[in-house]
Amino acid sequence: MSPREACDAASGLAAHERRVARDLELLGLPPRHWPATKPGPDGQPLIDVVVIGAGMCGIAAAAGLIFAGVRNIRVLDQNPAGREGPWLTFARMATLRSPKHLPGPAMGIPSLTFRAWYEASDGPGGWERLYKIPRDVWMDYLGWLQRVLALPIENGATVTRLAPAGGAIAITVETGTGTRLLHARRVVLATGRGGAGGLHTPDLVDRGLWPDLAAHANEAIDFGRLKGRRIAVLGGGDAAWDNAATALEAGAAQVDMYVRRDVLPQVNKGRGAALAGFFAGVGALDDAERWSLFVYRDDHAPPPPHETVLRTIRQPGFNIHFNAPVAAAARDGARVVVRIEGDATPRDADFLVVATGFAIDLRACRELAALAPEIATWGDRYTPPPALARPHLALYPYLGDGFELQRRRLDGPAELERIHVFNIAAMPSIGAVTGEIPGIGYGADRLTAAIAAAIFREDIAHMRRELDAFAEPELESTPFFVPGRE
Ligand SMILES: Cc1cc2nc3c(=O)[nH]c(=O)nc-3n(C[C@H](O)[C@H](O)[C@H](O)COP(=O)(O)OP(=O)(O)OC[C@H]3O[C@@H](n4cnc5c(N)ncnc54)[C@H](O)[C@@H]3O)c2cc1C
Repeated sequence: MSPREACDAASGLAAHERRVARDLELLGLPPRHWPATKPGPDGQPLIDVVVIGAGMCGIAAAAGLIFAGVRNIRVLDQNPAGREGPWLTFARMATLRSPKHLPGPAMGIPSLTFRAWYEASDGPGGWERLYKIPRDVWMDYLGWLQRVLALPIENGATVTRLAPAGGAIAITVETGTGTRLLHARRVVLATGRGGAGGLHTPDLVDRGLWPDLAAHANEAIDFGRLKGRRIAVLGGGDAAWDNAATALEAGAAQVDMYVRRDVLPQVNKGRGAALAGFFAGVGALDDAERWSLFVYRDDHAPPPPHETVLRTIRQPGFNIHFNAPVAAAARDGARVVVRIEGDATPRDADFLVVATGFAIDLRACRELAALAPEIATWGDRYTPPPALARPHLALYPYLGDGFELQRRRLDGPAELERIHVFNIAAMPSIGAVTGEIPGIGYGADRLTAAIAAAIFREDIAHMRRELDAFAEPELESTPFFVPGRE
């Protein structure tokens, strides 16, 4: 961008931000804060809601709460500002997979959409020229939303433990300067794809390969170090392809991708289910219907985007092996030995990328680990017919209507229901309204309405007192005004 274009873009964005301010004014947003101030166990006022994670879902949750008049909130993120979420950390695709026109976390306000921001900052014609959204541009947009909505975000703040605390939640936070304890009435876990169990690495992969001979696809990888090397990739999903392409572009000599299937999945069923009906309706289905739909989605893994496949196969040195389930991957000196089921000949490589996605297991989720035995999972609440039994899916938490955790035992800690899971783990309970762009607006509306209603219920005595004290003299300017009778 030339200095002139940069100047035009800055003035376009400044004008756009005035439009955002005007839109908010026209909608009366944000409304006055209304919840009661309640003391916490340490005598300090409780925070109403702590949102953990300042990525797309954390932004939408925080904005929704503020727009619901619940303004005593904090947002904490372990990453530095501008590096929340996967976009500049472990995402390796050139562009987002989603189409560019989705409203995403705009909270129903046109000037907050990606399109409105992009048109304002990129100048005339930019939107038409844009094919899909580059991931660094998406990160810029999310950072702009954080700023223009003045969200109360603290970066470099890692939540390491959540614990019941006399009707509230105690939140242990580690920062560069030490550890502190916050108390909140409610907590929203907007902790992303890895936020419900971390990275999934199958047992067949020798942990002794780390750090010099292997990495998970969703970890930081120094691809410069892999120049001239032979890379084995375990898995055939989108992250596998993104990592293969990145390694080859960085000069890797060869990539061998090992895939269990005989062909790649052909259809992205998630796109077929990206409809308002699914977003609004899945949470209203009974357990059998929700489970069957979730199993269907899980059985129909999406294909990698065609752009990603074309990007990868454009590079020399790429090989894909179908019908090649990896039985073991282990260290042999300075190389990786990969054994394929049913094949006596081992394959070797200089480095292994494990592209097997994320796990769902609350016991492995640092902030919830101590509470995990008390949390109800789908396995606790629903027994599917044998054909639909999927033990790995049974570990998903069984959530209430407002994304709140449920107790496994009736006499378990009631405070669990003050923790709202607003990440991918909500999928079987409420549908694809958390961890993906198309449904995020529906999810945020549902979450924030549920939290506002729960706080209102708890504060009903305070709200009645406030109502009693409300004495605005409507008739003061008329002959029927009776002083002292307001
Ligand atoms: C590589 C990749 C590509 C994707 N592409 C698309 C796409 O094209 N379209 C689409 O719809 N979806 C896509 N998704 C899915 C989804 O949109 C993203 O995962 C998105 O980042 C979800 O937003 P989020 O706010 O839930 O999580 P994130 O953006 O991951 O944000 C979670 C935040 O929580 C913070 N955090 C986690 N734990 C703690 C803790 N204990 N204490 C403090 N902070 C914590 C993290 O630092 C992080 O910043 C993609 C996902 C990935 C991984």
